[in-house]
Amino acid sequence: MPAGPQRKPLVSGNWKMNHTHLDAIAVVQKLAYTLAPADYERVEVSVHPAFTALRSVQTLLEADEVPIALGAQDTYYEDAGAFTGQVSPLMLAKLNVRYVIVGHSERREHFGESDSTVNKKLRAVLRHKMRPVLCVGETLGQREAGVTEQHVLGQLEACLAGVGAEELREVVVAYEPVWAIGTGRNATPQDAQAMCKAVRSWLAERYGAQAAGEVRVIYGGSVTPANISELMAEADVDGALVGGASLDAERFAEIVRQGAQVAAK
Ligand code: PEP
Repeated sequence: MPAGPQRKPLVSGNWKMNHTHLDAIAVVQKLAYTLAPADYERVEVSVHPAFTALRSVQTLLEADEVPIALGAQDTYYEDAGAFTGQVSPLMLAKLNVRYVIVGHSERREHFGESDSTVNKKLRAVLRHKMRPVLCVGETLGQREAGVTEQHVLGQLEACLAGVGAEELREVVVAYEPVWAIGTGRNATPQDAQAMCKAVRSWLAERYGAQAAGEVRVIYGGSVTPANISELMAEADVDGALVGGASLDAERFAEIVRQGAQVAAK
């Protein structure tokens, strides 16, 4: 399914545990003067700084009217309470956060997040009228064992439990093969397309073709200026979740610009 006007591509920069609030401000300032209105018209851009930089980046984006969406990398699912160290979706919503990554493979691997926790987080994000970026993807072992699709669709099923068709429109699915994250080894455009299409077909079966046609399914895993164009040229790849290459404003801007060129075709 090619992207229609209702599926504006999304290019998101996940800064992980990098950039102090001062560095984050500098990167956003550079992005703001590097990107042009035509880029933002064709591609939606979000940046996902660490929690400590959210307020600074929010202030800058709003003061300078920079059309970059503010994103978070994670959230807890309760609004308030005795949960030392956690940050709530209510707190994020009050900072005008628009996108929240949930279920990133690093959270699953290092912090033991299960699909059921990811589901609670995703629903908490929706409850606060923000948009979850739900990460799903297989390990190398699962790919080699030929269970990629089964695994990814199983993650979708569990993480989207209790989500209705209306809410689904707000969800972005990020297909991120675990073996491609931070390794410099990206999926081929054909493999990325095959899985993004499988995700959309599953969504269509579950929610109907119209809702599935509106959901953005993006690819993540070692995206760089060298491979973004061919990835985004695929019909079911509606953008990218970019880790390492989003840390540098010039590289990230180049990815956005190339994505915008593909979207213009
Ligand atoms: C990510 O953090 O989601 C990611 C895809 O990282 P990288 O681009 O560095 O592989």
